[in-house]
Amino acid sequence: MLNIYKIPVPTPYPVGPVNCYLIKNRPYTLVDPGPDTGEARSSLVSGLEVQGVALKDISRVVLTHYHSDHSGLASWLSEVAGARIYLHRYELRKLTSNYDFYQERLSFLQESGLPTVVLREILEDVDTVKQPVLPSGGITLLQGGEILGFDGGSLLVLHRPGHSDGHICLYDQLGRAFLAGDFMLEHITPNPNMEPDPCDFKKRLPVLSQYLDGLDTMDEIGACLILPGHGENIDDSQSAVFRAKKHHLERLELIASLLEGECLNVYQLMRVLYPHISGFQIYLGLSEVFAHVDYLVAGGELSKTEAGGIALYQKPLVHNII
Ligand SMILES: [Zn+2]
Ligand SMILES: [Zn+2]
Repeated sequence: MLNIYKIPVPTPYPVGPVNCYLIKNRPYTLVDPGPDTGEARSSLVSGLEVQGVALKDISRVVLTHYHSDHSGLASWLSEVAGARIYLHRYELRKLTSNYDFYQERLSFLQESGLPTVVLREILEDVDTVKQPVLPSGGITLLQGGEILGFDGGSLLVLHRPGHSDGHICLYDQLGRAFLAGDFMLEHITPNPNMEPDPCDFKKRLPVLSQYLDGLDTMDEIGACLILPGHGENIDDSQSAVFRAKKHHLERLELIASLLEGECLNVYQLMRVLYPHISGFQIYLGLSEVFAHVDYLVAGGELSKTEAGGIALYQKPLVHNII
């Protein structure tokens, strides 16, 4: 039986605190330690103290994905506790000093029809939290399917892309607890971030279908308790899956209806859906739209053409054959 404790760690982001999980079975393990801020460090230390655990007792840090609110303190824990870091192999390059988030996505942003002035607005909305960089050693790369052993239990590693291509979840098969990271959250659906295919950076990954495929596995997994990366625990996995699917289905229908008799680019669609957002939120809005139009194009429900390097989408006309 695994003893899993939640330690909420503050973040400066609108999403609020991140849930770090302490697995208090040897080797003591932290899942998603939080962002690298002074406030987060002291919250984590006091949260561990409540459990009678000192920093030096932490042997492993597992990262569900690379986002700084989850992964920021991994390097520090490796330094102060000698903890080994575990993460999916696709996330490693995003936690190195030469990773350039926007450079990898520049061709997608240009393809969206985004005006230069708005691109500048996104680029100028700089994250104040230091971007995490992992140490060069003491790392174990995962791909999904591994079992992390503990004294008294184990966690199965499950690859669940869609929010990030190397996102993993962890499943305690004995206790039927599912550590979800950002894969499942109580009140919000994770952003299906536009992500280049690690095998061919010119291509976008089909992030929405990857995400929906992941949701489809939840029934068969049969988790009794979802422990998410933010917010409260979810004890009804079926309803949470239903809500997430409904959100995306409605969004797909809305986007398809906006393209009936209209030919629009991703930026124009994003402005219809989110007229008042600014800065980095625009990037997230574009990601959301790309995920849905890519899904509709792959399913033959939208046609895609190109003019001057910008992709244009339209609902194909249905011809009645008499
Ligand atoms: Zn995230
Ligand atoms: Zn998150």
